[in-house]
Order: sequence, then structure tokens, then C-alpha cells
Amino acid sequence: MEQRVSLEFSETKDDMATPIANDHPEPLAPALLEVADVHHLYGRGTKDEYTALNGISFSVRAGEFVSIVGPSGCGKTTLLRCVSGLMRPSSGTIAVNGEVISSVPHDLTLVFQDYSRSLYPWLRVAANVDFPLRDAGLPRDERSARVAQALADVGLTGHERKYPRQLSGGMQQRVAIARALAYRPSMLLMDEPYASVDAQTRASLEDMLLDVWARRNKTVLFVTHDIDESVYLADRVLVLSAGPSRVIADIAVDIPRPRDQIDTKATPEFVELRAEVARLIRDAGTAPR
Ligand code: ADP
Repeated sequence: MEQRVSLEFSETKDDMATPIANDHPEPLAPALLEVADVHHLYGRGTKDEYTALNGISFSVRAGEFVSIVGPSGCGKTTLLRCVSGLMRPSSGTIAVNGEVISSVPHDLTLVFQDYSRSLYPWLRVAANVDFPLRDAGLPRDERSARVAQALADVGLTGHERKYPRQLSGGMQQRVAIARALAYRPSMLLMDEPYASVDAQTRASLEDMLLDVWARRNKTVLFVTHDIDESVYLADRVLVLSAGPSRVIADIAVDIPRPRDQIDTKATPEFVELRAEVARLIRDAGTAPR
């Protein structure tokens, strides 16, 4: 399923940001994702030109859970769209498994905030999860096994024949996640996936994701504007400044797993990390527009 493609983003830009020092030890595994000095300008050459990404560099190793947090409008969605291959950055390179991408890499799957628009309302739950597998031409037996496993992983066994409208918002987002998992990507890219659900649903979706991540040995890049969520979930938190955005910190979260919504969040380590991220975001200012 792994796709390797190569083509450089060739444009260069003169106001390169200095990459931040990475004070983590040598990587234990090769980088699955390598983002190097990515800039993105909207409306290039027009009076509305705006630099959304201003020299973003970071890497994610296989098996890591990395969250990206930053103020609204700082460029998180722009960055994820570039990483997913849906959008081409103005300059810089993005490599998956060591190969620079030029189109949508097959082993990354994106989960959006807006689950209601990402599911097909006329298809039942199982058919929604099956859709990309059918599209990829997988044999029927393989597809049904993957659909059953993915639905079990997200806690939706028994709901296969329902339509999305018969499910709560949280359950619909579980279907969207099951669809991504069934495709078996090496990396899940998640763009504020829990921003539209209530706090309790959000907590249970966070724990479901941590459980699947650990059991299925996934790699996750999780974008959020919620500081608690970024720390609770991740091995590392990348903090983005307000736009034009840069990575202003790459913070290791050395809090033991499995984590617990109440106990972990009451530990001094969690409280200190949450405060550190909040301070960084506050001191970096708010988005200019
Ligand atoms: P975030 O996901 O952090 O809220 P976005 O990546 O959506 O931020 O947007 C970053 C900045 O780029 C914002 O200031 C936004 O207004 C601007 N922007 C996003 N999309 C476009 C576009 N298509 N054209 C012009 N500006 C855009």
C-alpha cells in the first residue's frame, strides 16, 4: 500500500526562518514524516498576499503520537493540507518514508473536523467504511475483515447497518475514524477531529484514539487548538506561533501511559506542561487576522 513519489517543491523564498533547535535525543526510528522549511503564501503576488506558513520544520517517527497546537488562524489546517498532499506549499519539502511527496500519498489518511460532510449519507455505516477499500480494488473478503475490525476498534460493532443520520455526532466521527483505520495507513492525519463534539464525547473519543493507536501501532499527527487535548494525547507537542506561523517549541510529553482523563490531568507533570504550552502561545501573540 506504500506509495513512493518524488518531486521537489522548487520555489525558494528569501525570508527563511531559522529552524528551531531540536533538543530531543537521536531518533529511535527513521522519520516517517519529514517536513523541511515549508512556507506557504496565499494570494501570491496580489495585494492580499499572506504568508500562512513561515518556515515549518519537524519530523515524526513511526509509532509516535504528535500533536500540533496553535491559535485559531495560525495555519494548522494549511500545514495539514500540505502534509496530506492536498495542497502544494509555496516552498520547502515534505517527505514520507524518505521520499518527497508531490501528490496525495497513499499511506497517509486525513480525518476532518466536519464528520457530517465526510460521510456519505446515503450509505450505511459499513458501506461508508468500505468505500475507499472498494475504490482501492481490495478483494471482498479482505474488505469485510477490515471493515469489521475497524468498526470494532472504534466501538461500533452492531451499528453496521445504520445510516449516519441515525448516529450521534460522536458516533459519526467514529465512523470517519474507522474508515481511515480500515485503509491501514501508516499515518493518520487528524485536523481538529473533536472540535465539534461536547466535552464528554470528546474525552471518550480521545481515549478511543489512544487505545487504537497503541493496539494497532499507528502513527498520528493530531492538530488541535485545545491545549489540554494536545498534551493529554501526545508524545510530543509542536507549538505553532500566530501567523505567519513557525514551530516555536517541540515539547516532549514524558507522562506515563495509559493515561486517564481524571488522574493524568491532575498530575503535576500534566499541569506544568499545560501551563508551559499556554504560556508559549500567549507570549507568541494572537493571530493578526
Ligand atoms: P488554522 O487551521 O490554524 O485556523 P488556517 O490554516 O485555516 O489556520 O489559516 C491560516 C491563515 O491563512 C488564516 O489567516 C487564514 O485566513 C488564511 N487562509 C486560509 N485559507 C486561505 C485562502 N484560501 N486564501 C487566503 N487566505 C487563506
